[in-house]
Amino acid sequence: MSKQSSNTGALSQIYLDSNATTPVLPQAAEAALACMETLFGNPSSSHITGLRAKQVMDNTRRNAKEVIGAGQGEVIFTSGATEGIQTAIISALHQAKQSLNPETDYCVLYGATEHKAVPESLKHWLKVLEIDATLMAIPVDKQGLLDTEFLAQHAPNALLICTMAVNNETGVFQDLELIEQVIRANNPDAFWMVDCVQALGKLNLTLADTTIDYAPFSGHKLYAPKGIGFVYIRENAPFTPFIAGGGQEGGLRSGTENLPGMAALNVVFEMLLGKHEQQFACHEVLAGFRQQLTQALRTAFPAIVFNHNFDVSVATTLNFSIAGFSSKEMMDLFDAANIRVSSGSACSSKVTRSFVLDAMGLPAWQSESAIRLSFGPAMTQQDVDAACQRIEQSAAALTHSCLALADDAQNMTDKAELNGLMQFKVGGSCTWLYVDQQHKQAVIIDPLPQISERLATLLQCQGLSLVAAIDTHGHADHQSSRGELLNLLGLEQYTDHLGWPEQTKTTCLNGQRYPYITVGEQQLIAVPSKGHTSDSISLLLTAPNHKETATKLRYAFCGDTILMGTLGRSNFECSDSAAMYQTLIQLEHLIGQNTLICPSHDYNNEFTTTIGAEMERIPLLKQVIELKINQAQFVLQKSQLDQHIVDSAHSEIICGALTGQCQQQHITEYNAETLAAVMDKPNNLMLIDIREPHEFALQHNASFDHNVPLTRLVDFIERQQLNKTQPFVLVCRSGSRSHVAAQALSRLGFSQVGHLKGGYALSA
Ligand code: PLP
Repeated sequence: MSKQSSNTGALSQIYLDSNATTPVLPQAAEAALACMETLFGNPSSSHITGLRAKQVMDNTRRNAKEVIGAGQGEVIFTSGATEGIQTAIISALHQAKQSLNPETDYCVLYGATEHKAVPESLKHWLKVLEIDATLMAIPVDKQGLLDTEFLAQHAPNALLICTMAVNNETGVFQDLELIEQVIRANNPDAFWMVDCVQALGKLNLTLADTTIDYAPFSGHKLYAPKGIGFVYIRENAPFTPFIAGGGQEGGLRSGTENLPGMAALNVVFEMLLGKHEQQFACHEVLAGFRQQLTQALRTAFPAIVFNHNFDVSVATTLNFSIAGFSSKEMMDLFDAANIRVSSGSACSSKVTRSFVLDAMGLPAWQSESAIRLSFGPAMTQQDVDAACQRIEQSAAALTHSCLALADDAQNMTDKAELNGLMQFKVGGSCTWLYVDQQHKQAVIIDPLPQISERLATLLQCQGLSLVAAIDTHGHADHQSSRGELLNLLGLEQYTDHLGWPEQTKTTCLNGQRYPYITVGEQQLIAVPSKGHTSDSISLLLTAPNHKETATKLRYAFCGDTILMGTLGRSNFECSDSAAMYQTLIQLEHLIGQNTLICPSHDYNNEFTTTIGAEMERIPLLKQVIELKINQAQFVLQKSQLDQHIVDSAHSEIICGALTGQCQQQHITEYNAETLAAVMDKPNNLMLIDIREPHEFALQHNASFDHNVPLTRLVDFIERQQLNKTQPFVLVCRSGSRSHVAAQALSRLGFSQVGHLKGGYALSA
């Protein structure tokens, strides 16, 4: 585990991501350096320098064999496990190809939770070697253990069977003895590869006592550098070189050997074998560390669920999910606390979830929220204590920003007060929360089911009373969570089907009377907005005592009438595009072209818009507002626009045809040096940290006075409407949130917006 000073200088790094890679141990690095400086010879050279180099290689190989119990088997050095996997697969498949029977339906089997290096390589080599065999995943049970019945059923026709010793996401280890019995009872000849990458240093291995044919290993998962690994080959198992050339490694793997890597790996082997003065922690000690970390996590996050059974997992991996928090949110939180963990899921275009946890049949939320915390046998008690303390601080930051409720009253008083507008996004959909802190009142617009608990927690933590939870229309893509929210808050409200209170007063706007409710001193006015659906309404939030003019409106929650880059679709059964024409004209009369529109969807991370901004890129809207087309022409053009709606592959209903005109704005990109240079000169530049308040609280950099998290960006835009020439530089952890926020500001006419490319992560 490594510690080094953080970007802000406040907290040292606690590295708990050893299953991804490990730091090189100082002793191993020293050996590698000495090898580069003095034992730098080519092991193939016959002079003394070469012979000395060869000795390093021989020693490392001897120790490698001892560590894994290789017996008479071979150990070949590789660049890493992925190369070892290729070597094993080519060797097995090349041999199998020699004696295929055209009458037989062959298969190749691999565990469903295997690292992608295995199935992807199998697919590749089956194709390249033109072998007609079905590639099949062996299912796993809820614990992640292989289905031995499936294995028994398919093993007879298997050419090659690939399983893993320890899973990289969950630490679950397989019962290799049982798997061997099942394989050999059903097929004594099938080749068997076991990926042992995550087992090295964590499980005792005696490979020669088994019928495992091939076992790949990787140095960088156990304190050696990247670029060195090795593969075990059982005595007499077939072998085909993956790399041919100068005949190194006895002709089994050509290319001049990575001697410094071997020297470092040898130090690690000596530690494992007790031949080094420094030793690794034993299993009991590591299990104690796991228990301490587990306890700290449970206390800090009562809603935690562990995603694997510790009885069948190595002690060095913890995989968990925390109800109500996505893995991205937890990653951001831990990163701010300077604890490096990894999200237990692979990112795809839209959904982030773990295929390993999916294969284990865990609920979707656990798979989507998974976090992996992993360490190695060089972990120390001091590091564990420090990690536990940081975990506690992270939880305190969540309660401070009201994302979690503290269980003691004192903590509840130490919290950041919320005021104004907040935007919550789930995929492309938005919920809006408006808070009047002075009057302790709140209103929620378009509540999404995924965030009911978060909203309820926030209101309870802030001591706010919910005036109303209102939908702008009956949504086609999700159920309103109004009922659930009221239940969680123990409220009963008498409303219409959209949540609009039954008895309300009316106010006059542009000569027409509309119903309104009050939130503190603000009025929220409901305006019928038929078109997208027959029940659509717009909710207009006005400043105190505002009477007539449209320009003093603060926000217009227009549902799916006007979206960023498009108009809401009007091809549902309950849609009416002729009515939408009238609605658009009426809305523009009421709110003008500069009021901020807060829609129900934000498919492209644009946060908010105005009628003026949308007229620039939706020609149809411009034609309507400028009365260049009549209602009939609008109906025709609108139906053409709606033909472009492409519902996504995840069968999500898209509520408007995106016109593809989401143009990138020109914004100034800073790096650490250029930003420091600008800051050194007299300037009126405002540095804004746009991370969430809990991240800001954990890693507060004194030079950043302003914290405007993405959830508060629209509120910030509204407050800065008269300040659009002010220079702003936005900063976040990795530069991705600051980039989208800067784009949004620039699109709405802020003329001097920049961001720190690469974020804090890259600035020294
Ligand atoms: N197999 C497992 C189980 C792994 O965890 C990894 C790395 O994450 C690999 C294979 C690939 O190893 P390498 O990075 O050495 O190619």
